[in-house]
Amino acid sequence: METQTHNGPAVRRSRSKKYVYSFGGGQADGNASLTWLLGGKGANLAEMAGLGLPVPPGMTITTEVCTYYYTHHHTYPPELESQVRKGLARIEKLMGRRFGDPENPLLLSVRSGARVSMPGMMDTVLNLGLNDATVQGLIKQSHNPRFAYDCYRRFVQMYGDVVLGLKPEAKAERDPFAQILEEKKIARGIELDTEFTAEDLCELVAAFKGLIADRLHLSFPQDPWEQLWGAIGAVFRSWNNPRAITYRKIENIPEEWGTAVTVQAMVFGNLGDDCATGVAFTRDLSTGEKVLNGDFLVNAQGEDVVAGIRTPQQITLRAARERALREGKSEEERQVLYPSLEEKMPECFAQLHEIARTLEAHYKDAQDIEFTIQNGKLWMLQTRAGKRTAAAAMRIAVDMVHEGLIDERTAVLRVAPAQLDQLLHPTLDPDAPKERLARGLPASPGAVSGAVVFSADDAEAAAREGRKVILVRVETSPDDIHGMQAAQGILTARGGATSHAALVSRGMGKCAVVGCEALEIDYTQKLFRIRNSTVTIREGDYITLDGSTGEVFRGQVPTREPNLHTPQFTAFMAWADRFRRLRVRANADTPHDAQLARAFGAEGIGLCRTEHMFFEGDRIDAVREMILAEDTQSRKHALEKILPMQKGDFVGILRAMAGLPVTIRLLDPPLHEFLPHTEEEIRDLANKLGVPAERLRAKRNALHEANPMLGHRGCRLGITFPEIYEVQVRAIMEAACELTRDGIHVIPEIMVPLVGYKRELEILRERIEQVCRAVMQAQGVTVPYTVGTMIEVPRAALVADQIASVAEFFSFGTNDLTQTVLAISRDDAGKFSPDYLLQGIFPQDPFVSLDQEGVGLLMELAIRKGRAVRTNLKVGICGEHGGDPASVQFCHRANLDYVSCSPYRVPIARLAAAHAALGDQPSSSTHRRAMRKKRVQPPTVEAAA
Ligand code: PEP
Ligand code: MG
Repeated sequence: METQTHNGPAVRRSRSKKYVYSFGGGQADGNASLTWLLGGKGANLAEMAGLGLPVPPGMTITTEVCTYYYTHHHTYPPELESQVRKGLARIEKLMGRRFGDPENPLLLSVRSGARVSMPGMMDTVLNLGLNDATVQGLIKQSHNPRFAYDCYRRFVQMYGDVVLGLKPEAKAERDPFAQILEEKKIARGIELDTEFTAEDLCELVAAFKGLIADRLHLSFPQDPWEQLWGAIGAVFRSWNNPRAITYRKIENIPEEWGTAVTVQAMVFGNLGDDCATGVAFTRDLSTGEKVLNGDFLVNAQGEDVVAGIRTPQQITLRAARERALREGKSEEERQVLYPSLEEKMPECFAQLHEIARTLEAHYKDAQDIEFTIQNGKLWMLQTRAGKRTAAAAMRIAVDMVHEGLIDERTAVLRVAPAQLDQLLHPTLDPDAPKERLARGLPASPGAVSGAVVFSADDAEAAAREGRKVILVRVETSPDDIHGMQAAQGILTARGGATSHAALVSRGMGKCAVVGCEALEIDYTQKLFRIRNSTVTIREGDYITLDGSTGEVFRGQVPTREPNLHTPQFTAFMAWADRFRRLRVRANADTPHDAQLARAFGAEGIGLCRTEHMFFEGDRIDAVREMILAEDTQSRKHALEKILPMQKGDFVGILRAMAGLPVTIRLLDPPLHEFLPHTEEEIRDLANKLGVPAERLRAKRNALHEANPMLGHRGCRLGITFPEIYEVQVRAIMEAACELTRDGIHVIPEIMVPLVGYKRELEILRERIEQVCRAVMQAQGVTVPYTVGTMIEVPRAALVADQIASVAEFFSFGTNDLTQTVLAISRDDAGKFSPDYLLQGIFPQDPFVSLDQEGVGLLMELAIRKGRAVRTNLKVGICGEHGGDPASVQFCHRANLDYVSCSPYRVPIARLAAAHAALGDQPSSSTHRRAMRKKRVQPPTVEAAA
């Protein structure tokens, strides 16, 4: 086994595998297709270099080295060192500088880069190569000792933190480097970092080195090669830091992917006022509008823009003017306060504009670009498919089809099905009274209300208790990720549209308002004030965010349902529908939900749970009377009261779904669910019904079950109380006959729940048909209908051939099927599922995303057996999984006829079905595991990530 030397890996001859890919100087070893090997950053830098764009030369160490590093006790492949040396020599040549040269030193950045963007989760080291000697060379190059010492102190600070691991020792402790910086400011009587002199900064370098020596008992490495290997190792290790791990869990990114490391010549955006650094988007990634936009900072390093420490300026004049309008500034004030790049550096702006166009035409997708301007020269540091809101994703995809850049198939694949959820978010009711507190930047759309909290931990704790909160921070950092995930929305006082808060919220599809400068946040007192007003909002007070306008309101403002009927949505969904094979139905129990479902594009109802109707208005009284009945006669009497009510609902639902199939399920839950539970409720009901409370108590006790989910429910009720199902079937058929007589085309499908034995269904089907015949005869109308069953008990799946001989359709009730196959109560799983997810036992919550290996296998068996005896057996799914993209993908593969889900998820299922038909793979860990087994590289489209 090779050992690692002080300066890097031991050299040992073996077959030479390529671990280092160089780029720059108009050429590159790799290209954008190698994302899996070079990470997004490395692959796209190579691609840009290959296009002849101005990219500082560099090299990327592959993700395979990361894998090797973790499987070989933190060592490197023996070939690596010589390849890195060769790569560095190439950078030196192209830059005309030497690494470690005290006269003319080359400085490097060392950055992480995973296959998919993980903003701010992993580590970076800048200005690498500086030491006591080379800093003199940097002074000579830049003629600017202040700049050189500022670079050096930043480097020592970053290296101390990232590579040497010098961090606060206790939670309450401040960052020790920041502490020294702060003390220095006080000693010098200054407020800003920019006020430090070269001498101050030189002293800070010494103080930082002293801190490292005191705390870590080691001297800051002066050897540039030792620095380089230290930084490379730190970046690889950062793949497994807690926040990266959390982020991977949230985003379902496999641990085995690893990160690449890109080592690149430094260019400086902080060398003076003809320098800048910024982030640009080729289209508006919030709305999708085709306009170049973004932020920049004059005389700054790249991290300053993303960190949100200074609020940046706008790239375009138009955006700068829009900001001035928002902030009530005159044009004169704006020109002084935040002139645009377009005005300040017109040549660089024009070049950036041109490059943006080139990149879009080349990648055929909207790009998120990082750039630096050093002494008036523009350098491209990164390009990637920009993370975008669902609205933007859809608009960009549709526009690009119209622009002839992409075809409809590509457009459909550009929007992730789960992302559509965002479009279905409500907006603020324009007519509701509102008290606006402040306005920031609209970073991620949606409208949410919640109680204010000031820390990520508090947000997480509140969410665990089921409380809705808004996380309010001065700015967010990757350490806040768990709180951002838990909160309804994010509000920050600082940062631009490219700040951490904005990027991460957008990626999560979470409403966010950032850079709300009027906020004066006091973490210690847990409150914020609104500048120039008397308003104080304390922890626990409610506020409402509008992520589409950037407005912040006091209290809970009512919201309105989204309007999906935009031309883009209609065109996009029409394309998706053209590609899919699976039909999409909705689970709906009321005429209103049926109408809503149809408006969302549902092609029928896959599950109408009749018991939900029992709870409406005072129907529950009649239901309770039916349950309390001591004999069949009085039960029938009570049921007669229920009949017209159910019939009315069925008329409404069947009418709303005219021409489309409607699956109506007969009563399923155990009867005790309809009885009152508390003593007070029992007394009230006894009074209402005029029966002794004692009788009610006795009935409640008689119906008590130790395990009701496995008790007297589903078709077992129908077997023991035939009159219940008889009345329900009569209501269905009378409704169907009436509508048919009115010329409305109805397609009722009567479904029996919880069947496990063929005989159960045989008995019930016979009775159902008897009632149907009788009703049709009485009404003088014939209505075609079918009788089928849910498959939600393992036995039913195992003997599906027998059952299919009686059932005309199957509908997988995967809620119960998951519960019974896994022997995990769907009502109690929440107690341990977080641990199961954390420890990787559940790849996904099996009640959210189908357990394809277990439950899925049983479904496949049932389908095979069922269709073997009835070739035209219609098969669907109506459990919650019907709206989960990964499960829809499975249903497509398993050859189901349709999926059924809640009305709001119908568009998601339609798109997921299209993706499935187009062979795209949804981002689920189950799927990724499957792909790894097959050793297939995933598609590189990241647009909808
Ligand atoms: C199911 O079990 O998947 C189902 C749809 O029925 P319910 O959720 O009503 O038990
Ligand atoms: Mg069920």
